[in-house]
Amino acid sequence: MRCSRCDREAEIVLRYAKMSLCRDHFVEYINRRVRKVLEKAFSSGIPKRVASCVSGGKDSMVMLTILHDLSKEMGFDLVALYVDVGIDALASSRRVVESYCSELGIDLYIVDVGKALGSSVELLASKSRRDVCSVCGLVKRYVFNVFGVEKGFAIATGHHLDDVVSFTLKYVIFGGYHPLKPSSIIPAVPGASPRIRPLMKISEREVLAYALIRNVPYARNVCPYARQNPVNELMKYVFNVIEKKHPGAKLSFINRLEKEYENDLGKLRSSLCKHCGMMAQKEVCAFCSITLKAFGEAKGSQIRDLVRNLEPVKNGDG
Ligand SMILES: [Zn+2]
Ligand SMILES: [Zn+2]
Repeated sequence: MRCSRCDREAEIVLRYAKMSLCRDHFVEYINRRVRKVLEKAFSSGIPKRVASCVSGGKDSMVMLTILHDLSKEMGFDLVALYVDVGIDALASSRRVVESYCSELGIDLYIVDVGKALGSSVELLASKSRRDVCSVCGLVKRYVFNVFGVEKGFAIATGHHLDDVVSFTLKYVIFGGYHPLKPSSIIPAVPGASPRIRPLMKISEREVLAYALIRNVPYARNVCPYARQNPVNELMKYVFNVIEKKHPGAKLSFINRLEKEYENDLGKLRSSLCKHCGMMAQKEVCAFCSITLKAFGEAKGSQIRDLVRNLEPVKNGDG
């Protein structure tokens, strides 16, 4: 089959877009879609200083690759941000991130949460009687937000279409906590940094194809604490069945919800944590609350001090 844009052999068929693309045109197509998100973000007042949060996994490493291309084309500052949560099995992920940032010439900030807390997230989880995966997520979200606020960056995370679609469907059906609001641009509010999800309209399949085509390095080891959430898996399965019958269903679902969500953005209410001054849903933020429970002391301010004084591993020209 031929590429829809040139005479070369097509490498990937995108049924939702009614296109088949060769390698180069696929890369160009994905980059252009991410570029649109950034153009919209910057024109709505998001700072042209982007911190790309990387875990070493496929999704975030693909995001970093695309943002690196676009930072040159569009002229915005790009740094990478890695949160070391002190889990030994993830040491190889950190090495993959370090070597790729050095290869691309991107300054890398590493926040060593284990050192700052004097404890790994494993200990924090066991002391607060919660599972490691959810505590790790909470800690990372907190650190990302602190980084954005202290250093004046927009925070970019690598969630893709299938993540957002499955979390959103789960929330629509079952309610509960919804960490992934269906919006690719979330402006700053007091105590919270602006956020971007450059890959929110890109499917998991496209992210994987992009990683293969561009030869993006990523850590293949799965975190020993990662658990398959049966409800999330079911949501992904359901959506894949629908998508097969109706190509484009995932995108149209998320596009519609994003419009509704954007209309509600102005109504978001939150307060500031009385211990650390970051955004909180209650009097005390989730991070201060869990550290208070585990160590008898709210440690948010310590993380803020650490991040404020943090220097990057310099890989860039500057
Ligand atoms: Zn082509
Ligand atoms: Zn706090």
